[in-house]
Amino acid sequence: MNQYETQAIKEKFIDNGYEIVHEDDYADVYIINTCTVTNLSDRKSRQYIRRAKRINPDSIVIVTGCYAQMSPDEIEKIEDVNLVVGTNEKNSILEYVEMAQNNNKLVKVKEYEDIIDYEEMKIQGMGERTRAYIKIQEGCNQFCSYCIIPYARGNIRSRAMDDIINEAKTLISNGYKEIVITGINAALYGVDNGQGTLLDVIENIDGLEGKFRIRLSSLEPAFFDDKYIDRLMSYKKLCSHIHLSVQSGSNRILKAMNRKYSAEEFATIVKVLRKRRQDMNITTDIIVGFPGETEKDFDETCHFVTKMNFGKVHVFKYSKRKGTKAADMTDQVEDAVKSKRSDILIEISDKAARSFNEKFINRELEVLFEAKNEKTGYFEGLTDNYIKVYCKSDLDLCDQFAYVKISGIMDDGLIGILPIKS
Ligand code: SF4
Repeated sequence: MNQYETQAIKEKFIDNGYEIVHEDDYADVYIINTCTVTNLSDRKSRQYIRRAKRINPDSIVIVTGCYAQMSPDEIEKIEDVNLVVGTNEKNSILEYVEMAQNNNKLVKVKEYEDIIDYEEMKIQGMGERTRAYIKIQEGCNQFCSYCIIPYARGNIRSRAMDDIINEAKTLISNGYKEIVITGINAALYGVDNGQGTLLDVIENIDGLEGKFRIRLSSLEPAFFDDKYIDRLMSYKKLCSHIHLSVQSGSNRILKAMNRKYSAEEFATIVKVLRKRRQDMNITTDIIVGFPGETEKDFDETCHFVTKMNFGKVHVFKYSKRKGTKAADMTDQVEDAVKSKRSDILIEISDKAARSFNEKFINRELEVLFEAKNEKTGYFEGLTDNYIKVYCKSDLDLCDQFAYVKISGIMDDGLIGILPIKS
């Protein structure tokens, strides 16, 4: 989401005669689009703020994004900051910059309950040539007990279907070969504006002309049932990769997290998805060290992860976010325990990823190549089921689809050989 919004802000400045320079270079304006998902992200944002002002002490430093939305007072107090802009005001940053030239400090942050409109932003591309994001929806009303997002992004607001489809057409005609459908909780698309559902969004993009893929960024398992999966799997351009956040394998912890499914229900969804597409890669997120997580709960999670054969597990150590229910829970888990559990789970996940990848040795796979690593000489790309493939070739494979035969395995992917067919 932040990448999409950063791109939209960039394009707006370019359209108005500004030049974009690298973050380490001297600039008149620095915009720091922050995240607040963990304490670490807040700390990193503060480092960027100070660095910007060190490069040019006379610059205008603007802090926007979720950290700005959640802690405007804290950020306003930082001497180096000129402007604090909330999550639903990003489209107005250009105007605020013009205002800031005569005004030393400006805070433009609405209360999250007052954020009611979808703020339309547009992009023409993503900088790189292969993959582009499309934002379809904003906000969430699920209030998982650990999550700050409903407060940082506000309630659900969906983008107009026509705007989504027009942006998809622009990106495809600009040569993008992978469209990633993105939202804070994309499965909730349309509940507020009555313009269809996420499935309708996919169907409309799937029907557009051209050779391209559709990827889904992340989905909540609570919305899946057999009918939903049937329709989802019918879209030919949709990649066989779904990121479904399970968060824990313990039903007790899932309940405390206010997640609306059980581990068993999640396992059934995975089974049905794999039945429909054999090579389906299911990736997931897990939080370790959620308040009250016992050794038994953690063992259940390890057992669950082993059983599920995820292609990749993103392991997060629980990070207390002020204002959420979980932050007030009394049985917080010690940092050392969180780190230990994280290490164990990463090891399990790495083994599972390797065994998932090994299944593809000697198979022919279509890869969308993105870039050449000049150090190693390998072109690097992704299969539609999100496996990284390395391939050497005298041809320029960048931004091209190509079939390769898988000949070996790397730490984080596969090695492929050309050519099979094009
Ligand atoms: S569904 Fe996702 S975004 Fe919404 S509260 Fe839960 S974790 Fe946060």
